[in-house]
Amino acid sequence: MSKPKVVVLGAGYAGLVATRRLTQKLSADEAEIVLINKHNYHYESTWLHEVAAGTINPNQARFMLTDAVNPKRVRLIYDTVTEVNRDEQRVILDNSEVSYDYLVFALGFVSNTFGIPGMDEHAFAITDIDSSRHIAEHIEYQFAQYSTDENKNDDQLTILVGGGGFTGIEFVGELADKVPELCQKYDIDRSKARIINVEAAPSILPVFDDDLVSYAKKALEDRGVEFRIGAPIKECTEEGFIVGDDKELIKAGTVVWTGGVTGNPVLAKSGYELFKGKVNVGPDLRPEGEENVFIVGDCSWTLDQETGRPYPPTGQLATQEGAQVAENISALIRNQPIQDFVYSNKGTVASLGLSDGIGNVLNGNKLRGKSAAAMKKVVDDRSLFLVGGPKVLLKKGKFRPF
Ligand code: FAD
Repeated sequence: MSKPKVVVLGAGYAGLVATRRLTQKLSADEAEIVLINKHNYHYESTWLHEVAAGTINPNQARFMLTDAVNPKRVRLIYDTVTEVNRDEQRVILDNSEVSYDYLVFALGFVSNTFGIPGMDEHAFAITDIDSSRHIAEHIEYQFAQYSTDENKNDDQLTILVGGGGFTGIEFVGELADKVPELCQKYDIDRSKARIINVEAAPSILPVFDDDLVSYAKKALEDRGVEFRIGAPIKECTEEGFIVGDDKELIKAGTVVWTGGVTGNPVLAKSGYELFKGKVNVGPDLRPEGEENVFIVGDCSWTLDQETGRPYPPTGQLATQEGAQVAENISALIRNQPIQDFVYSNKGTVASLGLSDGIGNVLNGNKLRGKSAAAMKKVVDDRSLFLVGGPKVLLKKGKFRPF
């Protein structure tokens, strides 16, 4: 009898952890493992705000898949998934097709602009290495061009960031580090360059308590970030955002949308019923009616049995789900019972640039300032270790003092 074929879609947190664990759990005789990803590298999505601001080199935030998985044990396919034909158990790629016995759907997130007119057309989004690098290059180009322009327009130096959630705030924190550097490099008066964060809700950073939010806001304001809170963006144009009921136009040379993400559109193309862009999965991470498919990370909603609400999508959740899926697929292949997923919350830390941050860590302890920034580096390095292993951690880890 031929070996069962396990196909993993996406080499992000969930997909890569699942693949690595599958190779540890199952022998080569027990299963064939296939990992399909758009690129030949994994990137740390949780570091993309740094790439987008230009505070780290894009290569630090990515590593080759062959550094993390053995290509003799895992068949690596670098191609784009367009659809899954669930009836025929086939994955359709841009350049070929692959059949499966077990499928892990881990294709991550895409930007969601909630239908705000002009946002898709005129704003950048932080979604992968290329889109993030493009933002950093665009910002630097604005500063370089301004410095040589005879008819200077200060709006060119304004960076407008839509969304005051985790990504938006971590991004403006990096910009607060980067902008003074750019001003110095291009001999520009720092007061001419503005960083403006626009948020529709009454507060930024909804995942943190008020005292930590106040700390973050003040720390960023002290470093030159301006906030427009409770200010819904009505439209995005070539010039900037149109904000609030009085339709004020805030002009900028760089406009970035960080206000929302949703599940990969391949889910819809594959015929899944979606709830806010993702698939509801059961406690064992399988969608209803499919015994051999697991949907994880930012592609699914997993219910917290205690609160009855879905867990917020995070790298931490995706990593843990990836590990559980490997356990469950191994169990299925060995005709053993599978286990429900149990989330272990290790806390949440947000960076505010290289040397500042806020965090809720274990036992309700709160961190702010340098201790939070140090903890954030520990979290980032731990993630690298879990996803890529010790060799990757040594190559790409954040060991730089601050
Ligand atoms: P991803 O990690 O996004 O991986 C998806 C993979 O699928 C990628 O490799 C992608 O290239 C590949 N792929 C996508 N489409 C296709 C296709 N059609 N064909 C083939 N391959 C494809 N979470 C935290 O826990 N802590 C944080 O501090 C944090 N900070 C964040 C900061 C930023 C700037 C962003 C953007 C997110 C942050 N998050 C954070 C959220 C976290 O990054 C996501 O929840 C996490 O990446 C989801 O993991 P995943 O495995 O589902 O998908």
